[in-house]
Amino acid sequence: MTGTLIHISNLVIFVEQMNTDFKQFELVSGLEIHVQLNTTTKIFSSDSAAFGALPNAHISAVTMALPGALPKLNKEVIEKAVRIGLALNCHINQRNYFDRKNYFYADLPKGYQITQDNQPICKDGFIDVTLSNGDVKQIGINRIHLEEDAGKSMHDQSEEYSFIDLNRAGVPLIEIVTEPDIRSAEEASALLNAIRQLVRHLDVSDGNMEEGSLRCDANISIREQGSTTFGTRCEVKNLNSIRNVRRAMEFEFNRQKELVSQGGTIIQSTLNFDADQGSTSPMRSKEEANDYRYFPDPDLPPILISNEWLAAIKACMPVLPQEIVQQLTAQYGINRSEAAIFAEDMDLYEYFRQASVATQNAKSLINWLSGPIRASLNEQQISIADFNVSPLQLAEIINMVDDKKINQQAAMQRLVPKVERGSSLPVIQLAQSLNLLITEDSSALADFADQVLNKLQPQVLAYKKGKKGVLGLFVGEVMKLAKGKADPQKVNEILLEKLK
Ligand code: ADP
Ligand code: MG
Repeated sequence: MTGTLIHISNLVIFVEQMNTDFKQFELVSGLEIHVQLNTTTKIFSSDSAAFGALPNAHISAVTMALPGALPKLNKEVIEKAVRIGLALNCHINQRNYFDRKNYFYADLPKGYQITQDNQPICKDGFIDVTLSNGDVKQIGINRIHLEEDAGKSMHDQSEEYSFIDLNRAGVPLIEIVTEPDIRSAEEASALLNAIRQLVRHLDVSDGNMEEGSLRCDANISIREQGSTTFGTRCEVKNLNSIRNVRRAMEFEFNRQKELVSQGGTIIQSTLNFDADQGSTSPMRSKEEANDYRYFPDPDLPPILISNEWLAAIKACMPVLPQEIVQQLTAQYGINRSEAAIFAEDMDLYEYFRQASVATQNAKSLINWLSGPIRASLNEQQISIADFNVSPLQLAEIINMVDDKKINQQAAMQRLVPKVERGSSLPVIQLAQSLNLLITEDSSALADFADQVLNKLQPQVLAYKKGKKGVLGLFVGEVMKLAKGKADPQKVNEILLEKLK
């Protein structure tokens, strides 16, 4: 009897272990994204906010926190934060204020950081990001708050001393805090790409991750697939590239899964990411967490954004990348990734808008711009802003191709470069001077067709035996004889007639 009992309970234990082993976990993450604003001066002083100067070149009494020095708010910072808030569909808190976050650190001379805790400038927004499979994922934005950046401590310059550079102290930052809506490393990187694109598009930041203009903390937890409650999270600090965000997430996901599968529990903690090892390590746990003793900064009055001011900021908002994608896909039936080429490059979109006024066929224009023109710009390593063919000139060239006055290859390979080199002549005259205009002389084309078919007897035979693919060869040869000045469609027709 006892033996059976043991046997049964072993079996029960075994079954339970099987359950744990085969449990499916899902990743849950929310990001805190720090964005350095691209203002000329710092948030509370007239010190330069530029990156890359000699250490401590951009510091005054305010940055050094000398006794009696008082902060004075840079108005541009408010406008840039509101622009981002509007683009992220946030509610704008028209009355908000700064708090002091108290802690001691060598590169924080005041002994506190000026930030926003209770009343952030923006709240409750969202962003739609497109994933690689084309799905659109909505990620909630919990809040956006303003703060000043800290200085930089450098511990690797000398054996004996640590150095401090306060150039960065007081550079304006916004912190974008997302809801825990992220479910994979791919979603996180799509989100960061979208945010980087947006801050550049709105001209609020250069979004440069290498220079630290964009960096983020990733909060990561796991839960059983299908569960609706959240697990305990760990926060990986200061990730400075999208690649490292992905790596940190993948590492943490696996670490937490393994720990929980072995019966362990996750302890809420702050982690460092080691980019060389690709692993995380504990910085501090919740028990050792700082108590920042937040309170409203008495040196700064609350920020009041009047209705007029808000309306003025709204009026200056550019079309957003999302809106461009929506408009182009709806209006011209192109797919999202094609439309994204325009949404990612405002200059290209602007060029498109100007040229589209003069083209008969906007779809051709889109194809030209996203295809051969883009390839040519890439090859020359220039942007559309430096492209020496005006939108109206390009529109005219495309119209000529669509009207079969010039063939596309000749237009792209000879006419466009000619216009690029600069000339005061109208495009049509340039085409004429290059002898590119299609002659409507069908008898000449028929002659060329005969010559080609005579020369290529074996291929003609093959064609007649069913190898229809050689038709392209014939067309190409006729086009050569016509020096490109023929409509390939027409050449096709003539050849088909003769091959009957
Ligand atoms: P705190 O102020 O303590 O940092 P917040 O509520 O501001 O806490 O959350 C910080 C970040 O952590 C947010 O981006 C949020 O989405 C994320 N987060 C909260 N709970 C979880 C969780 N269980 N798993 C993953 N991320 C989480
Ligand atoms: Mg936090």
